Formats: sequence, C-alpha cells, structure tokens
Amino acid sequence: MSTTVGTALSRSISWIPEARRRQVGLAILIAGALLFPVLHNNDADIDSMANAAAYAVLALGLNIVVGFAGLLDLGYAAFFAIGAYTYGILTSFQVQPDWSTFWEPFRVVGLVSKMAAATGSGSVVHFTLSFWLALPFAAVFAAFWGVLFGFPTLRLRGDYLAIVTLGFGEIVPIVVRNWASLTNGAAGLNGVAAPRLFGWSFGVDSTPYYYVAMCLVGLLIFISIRLRDSRIGRAWMAIREDEIAAAAMGVDRTKFKLLAFAIGAAFGGMTGVFYVAKLQTATPEMFGFPVSVMILVMIVFGGIGSVWGVVLGAFVLQLLQSWWLEDLTHWLNAFGQLVGNRWLERVDLVPSIELIFGLILVGMMLFRRQGLIPATRPQAALSFDQQHAEVRRGGFADLKLQGLGGDVRTGAAALEIRDVTVRFGGLTALNRVDVTVPNGGVVAVIGPNGSGKSTLFNVITGLVEAASGSIRFHGEEIMHLAPHRILAKGVARTFQNLRLFPNLTVMENALIGQHARLTTGVFGAIIQPPGTRMEEKAAREWAMEIFSIFGNRLAPRTGQMVSGLSYANRRRIEIARALASRPRILLLDEPTAGMNPAETLELAEQIKSLNALGLTVLLIEHKLDVVTTLADTVYVLDHGEVIAHGTPAEVRQNDEVLRAYLGRNAQAAAAGVAHVA
Ligand code: ADP
Ligand code: MG
Repeated sequence: MSTTVGTALSRSISWIPEARRRQVGLAILIAGALLFPVLHNNDADIDSMANAAAYAVLALGLNIVVGFAGLLDLGYAAFFAIGAYTYGILTSFQVQPDWSTFWEPFRVVGLVSKMAAATGSGSVVHFTLSFWLALPFAAVFAAFWGVLFGFPTLRLRGDYLAIVTLGFGEIVPIVVRNWASLTNGAAGLNGVAAPRLFGWSFGVDSTPYYYVAMCLVGLLIFISIRLRDSRIGRAWMAIREDEIAAAAMGVDRTKFKLLAFAIGAAFGGMTGVFYVAKLQTATPEMFGFPVSVMILVMIVFGGIGSVWGVVLGAFVLQLLQSWWLEDLTHWLNAFGQLVGNRWLERVDLVPSIELIFGLILVGMMLFRRQGLIPATRPQAALSFDQQHAEVRRGGFADLKLQGLGGDVRTGAAALEIRDVTVRFGGLTALNRVDVTVPNGGVVAVIGPNGSGKSTLFNVITGLVEAASGSIRFHGEEIMHLAPHRILAKGVARTFQNLRLFPNLTVMENALIGQHARLTTGVFGAIIQPPGTRMEEKAAREWAMEIFSIFGNRLAPRTGQMVSGLSYANRRRIEIARALASRPRILLLDEPTAGMNPAETLELAEQIKSLNALGLTVLLIEHKLDVVTTLADTVYVLDHGEVIAHGTPAEVRQNDEVLRAYLGRNAQAAAAGVAHVA
C-alpha cells in the first residue's frame, strides 16, 4: 500500500525538473533550520542541535581526508583540540606574560588588553582575541599542523597511515594534559570568553550558538561541494582510487595529500573554536580517541565521501545520543513495567552508546554498506537501442584536435633512451637498454613475457628508478623527475593491467587526464570566478572531442561509472584519458589485449589516425599483425636486453628473435619449413 502511495507521489513530482526540486528541498531545509529555535523554544534541545552541527562540521572535515582523498585518519580530533586550545588560550586568563611596549600595537587593534597583575605591582597581558577572528586564525593554524602531521605519513597508506595518525591523535591530548602552564592540564581552561557580536555577548543562551553552528555547516557544505566537483576534488579522488595512476596522469600526490590534510584540519580547527566558545572551558578529555572514532562512525554511517550523507550521519548519531536514547529508555522502562519484565524495567541505554554505535555499524555493513546517502548513485544503463546503435568508427575528418600531436615529422628524436639499467633486487629487469623514438614515428617494443617491456614504460614515466642511464625527451633529461612532472612534459601512458579510476565516471577519468593542463586552485574551485568556469567548460569539451575518436563507443557513456563498462571500453577510456592530457608522445602498453579481432582492427586504425595527426607513439604489442601494420621500427627485448631492432620485416627474419619468441625447436622447425620450401 505504502509503495503505491510512494510511486504516486514520486510520479506527481516527477514533472518538476531535478534542479528545481533540489532548490525547493534546500529552501525547506534552510527555513527549518532558521525556524527551529523559534518554534521549539527548549534551550537543551537547541543546544543538542548546536552540538550536532559542530559534529557535522567535523565530519565534513574528516570526509575530505577519508572520503575524498581516501586517507584513513584515526587522529582527527587532534585538530579539533588544536583549534579549541588556540581560542581558549587566547581569550582566557591562562597565559599572562608581563606587559611591555611590544604588546602596545596588539592592544591598539584589540587583540590584548593591559591588566593589573594579580600578584605584585606590574601589569600583565590579557589576550582578548575576537571569536570571529579566531575562526579563520584557528583554521589556518590547524591547517599548518595538518601539513606537519601529514608530512611524515606521505608514503603510508591504509593500516600504516591509520596507526601513525592514531599516534598523533593520542599525542595532542597528552601534550595538552602535561603542558599545564599553557593549558592548565587536566583541570582544563577556565573563563574562556563567550563570542560577542556588536558589543553583545552570546553568554550561555544556546540560540546564538545554534545559528553560528548552522552557518558553519552551511558554509562548509558549500565549500565541500565546490571542492568535490573541481579539479582539486578530482585529484583527491584519483589518489583515492589509484595512487600510481593518479601520479602518472599528472597529479602531484604530495601536494594534494597535504592539501587534504590541511583543509580537513582547518575544518576541525574552526569547530574547536566554536565548541570551546560554547562550553567556555576545554579539557583534554574532550578530544581523545573516542571522539575521532565517533566522527569516523558518523562518516561511515552517513556515506563515505558523500557531503550530505556525512552531515546527516553526524546529526542522526549525535541526536540519537542526546535525544532519542533517553526517550527510548523511558519507553522501554514503561513497557517493562507493563509486561512485568524486571530487566526491561531498569535497562538504561544511554551508557551503552558505544555498543549501540557498534551495532549500527555492523548493521550498516550488512545491509547498506555505502551509508545513508551513498556518494555514488547507480547509473542508468544504456537502453537497448543505445547499446546496439551501429558502431560509428572514429571520425577524424571532423575533429578539431587542436593541441593533439601538432609536432611535425622532423625526424629528430623525440625520446632517447640510453644505457638504461633497472634492477629489482637481484633481478636485472632492463640491462643497458637503448631505444630511440623519432618525432612523429610509431615504434613498437615486442618480446616474451617478463622481458622488461612494461618496466621500460615504468622507467620512462618515472614510476620505477633506474640504476643508471639517461632518458631524454626532446633533448631534456627526464629520468629523475617525479611522474606528474614527466606527464606535464607531454609523456602520457596507458597501463597493461588497466589502472582506471573505477568509481569515477568516464568523463571524470578524462578530466583527471587533463589535470596538469588545468590551473584551478583551491580558491578558484570554491569561488568559481568566470575564468574557472570557462576552463572547466573547455575541459569538458576537449574530453568530448577525445571521446569522439572512438565513435559512439564512449560518447554516450560519459556519465557512467567506469567499473561497469566492458573491458574493451575500459581500454579505450585509458587511451582517452592519456590523450586528454595533450601528450606529445603516447605510450601504449598492450592496448589491444583482451580485444576481439574486430575491435583490435578498429583500435589499430585509430592509433594510425592519431599518428597521422602528428602524435608520436611508443607501443608494446603482442599481436604481430598490429605491429606490422603500425610500426616503423620494432625493438625486441629479451631478458631485459635489446636483442634486435629494425623494420618489422627485418625483425621477423632475425634468428635471435625467432629463438627468443618460439624457442630453439620451433626455430629449427621454421628453418626446416624454409628448407623444404
Ligand atoms: P613484460 O612487460 O615484458 O612482460 P615486465 O617489465 O613486467 O615484463 O617485467 C620484467 C621483469 O621484472 C619480470 O621478471 C618481473 O617479474 C620483474 N618486475 C617487474 N616489476 C617489478 C617490481 N616492481 N618489483 C620486482 N620485480 C619486478
Ligand atoms: Mg608487460
């Protein structure tokens, strides 16, 4: 019955455009938030809502680190503490240095006041930082610590990262507890000033705090959404999805991980200021491990990476704790009296909050793993007609491939690999390899499995270190550059074992490919000046142009999650992603692996057309017919050494190549056949 009502309802509003529905929903939310303290005039409940909002801000901050960038942080409460103590110390009477003329300028701008010392006759400094200044100041200060804590963890992932952040999370409260002269230790700060607005003090009434908290939530939801949908957010998600691929596609991992830590910490620092101003005290217990875990649970509950999800998660769990659990206890007790059950009569749920959180988490893992509001919505599959529309071959004639290729066939070397040796422990994967790729040419590398072909690509793109040698790209040494710098120089690659960003859409994958060519920074992403909007629009248009190389294989699927696409299409997306970076040379590692003969032929034609546009190609390929049709020059690797190179025809007749490829017997057989013939 209820489902029919639901369907009828959803049908009756389905004529309203999605954007309008969102606007209406948002307006109702804002109106509700504004009116709540007016309609529900209960100070304790308003206070609970303000607390819930503070936790929502914390959850939004941690969501940037854990949800967007995929860095598991178990010590997030440390930044909450840093913000809290920053404001606490700079507005209470805890620290009182002797007065000197040094403080005079600060007094003039109202940051400190001069006060008679409690003991002795001199004067001391009383810090009087305004709450409104403290918010941005604590945000910046916490961000600084975020970078400092983040730095040692850059090389860590998963469990290791979690343990190190856990350590930082523990260190901060311990320092706070023991540095009594600064923080008053376990006793906590006293007399923290309440915020003032136009000379009026907030005092202990919950309502003004409620409105400040709601404004913070609104602001940080806005910032989170703007960041998520920008070049910055895409770089974070690329790191989350596949760190190696992110680096190879031009994302500076160090910079963006630290940026995630810094912005997450800034959110935490601001919340700390708010929280302490509301409580007008701070103790080390307020910022321990359980707080970090609680925020993490809110995120998982609401939906990792989902902005509205984590806000909802924070509100639900916080209000569960402060409102519903008590009510539920009363009902259970009353029910117990009714049925005469002594245990139910006396049960109290409030102290078991951790147990209840645990049960909620287990329930979520079993029944709704992606949280209340999942970050990624399931995509509608293509209709039968769309799927079976005649495959249109890539049309190059009508492409305006500005910025792709462009280099003329000068005959000069684009890529010169000289004497490169790569060792993995005792194994020499490449031994003094020399390869030259002429500008505008197609060079193929062939060789048996394990002969070092992929390693050659890895060393060119900076993913593995060479023991010796030199790699020059258009005359410039690129060997010891970081992967994202090599991409920026114009060297783009695909991977043998697909390394796409699976939980992002086709379009997002192609946009990440352009990361190095775009310039939007944090402020551009949040404020979105016209320049940023234009850049974003141009990036999407360029991606569509790249997709059109593959006819209608990718173009109708731009909004689909990559993980749901066919293998051949995923291979095409990898090529599209690499092309999106406007490379001068394209490195393709077995691009036709797993494709059927028709698809192989189609792709070979497309590669040929790309080369005709002026793009230099270095290709690893097993299918010899593809090599023969495409390549000008072939290098044969065996056991990490170049055993032959020349035109495809020359290489095919080389004895050593036959032996490496087919084994001695086969070579004899081939010779036998030749003899008979
Ligand atoms: P191919 O692509 O020609 O099949 P690879 O370049 O992938 O060969 O591998 C060459 C050799 O180097 C293989 O023996 C492989 O096991 C080894 N190898 C490749 N990458 C690594 C690595 N990261 N660590 C250790 N050994 C590796
Ligand atoms: Mg390989």
